Amino acid sequence: MALIFNIQRFSIHDGDGIRTTVFFKGCPLACAWCHNPEGRSFTAETWQTADGKYEIVGKNYTVKQLLKELEKDRIFYEQSGGGVTLSGGETLAQNMDFVTELVAALHKSGISVGIDTCGYCDFGNFERVLPYTDFFLYDLKIFDDRLHQTFTGVSNRLILENLKKLARYKARIILRLILLEGVNASDEHIIAILNFLMQNDIHPERIDLLPYHRLGSDKHQRLQTPTPAQVFSAPTNERIEAIRNLLGLFV
Ligand code: SF4
Repeated sequence: MALIFNIQRFSIHDGDGIRTTVFFKGCPLACAWCHNPEGRSFTAETWQTADGKYEIVGKNYTVKQLLKELEKDRIFYEQSGGGVTLSGGETLAQNMDFVTELVAALHKSGISVGIDTCGYCDFGNFERVLPYTDFFLYDLKIFDDRLHQTFTGVSNRLILENLKKLARYKARIILRLILLEGVNASDEHIIAILNFLMQNDIHPERIDLLPYHRLGSDKHQRLQTPTPAQVFSAPTNERIEAIRNLLGLFV
């Protein structure tokens, strides 16, 4: 069984074509800006709906039940070159017997599999899903380790090491950079990432820029968890354009 907190159909920003995105519940990071705080805890929770009712966040699925749900959208995958993306929370911090069985079954039935990951897990978890995974959406949040620890609660060393290892497997990697003004949107930060990629022979297929957005900022109230003290903002359009220019061919 695995605990899922959302199955989002018709996703067009989670990889190739039209995709159905599965959100696993539970994440080892605690990003201060997290827009899916309901995906952080590894156990089911309750939250309030807009009309004040309580609802359970998180539903247990067997692999068979989940496959049945995902098969319903096959026509969209086939017509658009899409498939299924596993996200969260963190997919690779879940019961890996479940995740491996799921991706192997999707792969066997001809459905493309993408995995959105923060990269914070034993590399053995990547190795288990690699044979069945078409691409990885690899989120790199902050390059400076001290800042990474301050804002996410963990060191980024494992995340960077896993990225290097994944690149050696010639996996299709789409690197995703969340952009937060005053935290990771400076030229210095972007250049540090570029240097890391070049020095380690890492060639992402593309780098997606994800300017911070406030969507989901009411979720803490709904979950009745403390609202983060820090208020974040996205860089200006000019700054984003400057970052795009710095990254050149990657974006
Ligand atoms: S890695 Fe993603 S899900 Fe986990 S805390 Fe950070 S933003 Fe939230």
